[in-house]
Amino acid sequence: MYKRGAAKPEYATAKIAVWWDMKCCPIPEGYDARLVRPSIEAAFNELGYSGPVSITGYGDQRQTPCHILRGLSSTGVAVAQIKSESTCSLMYSNMLEWRDHNPPPATMMLISDQWQDVFSWDLARLQQHTKYNLFLSYSTKSNIGSALEPCGKWTWTKLLATKRELVQDQKCCSRELSAMFYCKSCSYQGQSVEGFRKHLSTRKHAVREVTNRIHPELDYLTRTWAKDYPAKPEYATAQIAVWWDMMDCPIPEGYDARQVRPSLEAAFKKLGYSGPVSITAYGDHNKTPDYILRELSSTGVEVIYSRMFRNLSEWKDSNPPPATIMLISDAVEVMFSGALARLLQETKYNLFLAYSYRPYKMSVLLTSAEWLWESLLLAGVFFSSPYHHPLTFETNDATRRHVLGKCSERGESTKMFSCSVCICDCKSLEDLRTHLSSEDHAVLQERHYPEVIRMKYRCIKQCQKASFSNDDYRFSDMGFLSNS
Ligand SMILES: [Zn+2]
Ligand SMILES: [Zn+2]
Repeated sequence: MYKRGAAKPEYATAKIAVWWDMKCCPIPEGYDARLVRPSIEAAFNELGYSGPVSITGYGDQRQTPCHILRGLSSTGVAVAQIKSESTCSLMYSNMLEWRDHNPPPATMMLISDQWQDVFSWDLARLQQHTKYNLFLSYSTKSNIGSALEPCGKWTWTKLLATKRELVQDQKCCSRELSAMFYCKSCSYQGQSVEGFRKHLSTRKHAVREVTNRIHPELDYLTRTWAKDYPAKPEYATAQIAVWWDMMDCPIPEGYDARQVRPSLEAAFKKLGYSGPVSITAYGDHNKTPDYILRELSSTGVEVIYSRMFRNLSEWKDSNPPPATIMLISDAVEVMFSGALARLLQETKYNLFLAYSYRPYKMSVLLTSAEWLWESLLLAGVFFSSPYHHPLTFETNDATRRHVLGKCSERGESTKMFSCSVCICDCKSLEDLRTHLSSEDHAVLQERHYPEVIRMKYRCIKQCQKASFSNDDYRFSDMGFLSNS
């Protein structure tokens, strides 16, 4: 059975790099510093990792006793001098540099109590995008609910307490023979404790540490990442599953609902995605006019009565990556971003978003493309294929068979109307209407989705809209409106 965090074959002998904040996770009184490396290695060995481990300890080393520095360097643990306030920022920039030189598969480990407050946002986004393993260790218990999803975590004391017998069995894996001591402010590198201590006591070092100050703020790599990437090869022909919340993103007045599918497909094609597209329209279809539901179903858009996301977890079980998930909703950030970000770190699905108004802050969700709903709907209007052209668009049986055929090839239901509250499929729109007005439906609806939840949801959305600002600088140059 798969043990959580256990090494998958491609990671078993791959490199492991460890960034260790020595201030929040110090070596306990009386603990032999020479055991830090073998303990970390033993913990990884237990999970099946045997690749070479590089470890760097960060801190203000003027306060670190010489015997600790000696113990660390004698076991190949590098030691970096950094003022406390800039520790996270140096660790992070070193991590990013390391990633540049060490493509996945490889394993990263962060030993820091700041993993949640300082590192998690950018790391969670990076991890949705790249295939590095990530492990964490920390001395104080973390809060649950972080968007960051590591492969495994240890408390610092548990990590250091890895069995001695096991530790003594370990031979130190190949050590990095690079400098063991370094000071970034002065670009100093040295091999001896004495030389390092001497360097730290010089006036030159004191001056440089002030003049070459390392900025305490982390340089978030993903903050400047643009939207609307061309498709990566593995997703270019993979399926695209669209969850569309029609309550947040309705069909605009006068818009032909049969244009929804071609518009989406045109926008995907523009970015190089040509895989089969399944679209499911969620909503309170009691309020959706018949002709719209008919137009949707005639173009192979499945219509489900419920709020969306109910089916996402079911879907992923039968649709492993590579695949693209697209969510059309205004509620993603408020309601689902944490859970979804964790899912994407584990599974590496590709993600698209569309919403009726721009989010007021950058999400922890890493997307390959984002659209404003109404501009997305315009994407297909100028599409040249006669099948897609708005003026010649005809819903004939051949078209419908073609679309439904495409759906059933993918093993999906061709029952186009259903109620996911009651988990029932309806053969026709009339059946759906009959079902929605039934007593049975009313009872289940109230049980699963009572008015109080609906009110809470509306309330959250109101607050979100109120704090939205058009002037948010982070969005000014991100191509958010590239389709408008
Ligand atoms: Zn220095
Ligand atoms: Zn129902």
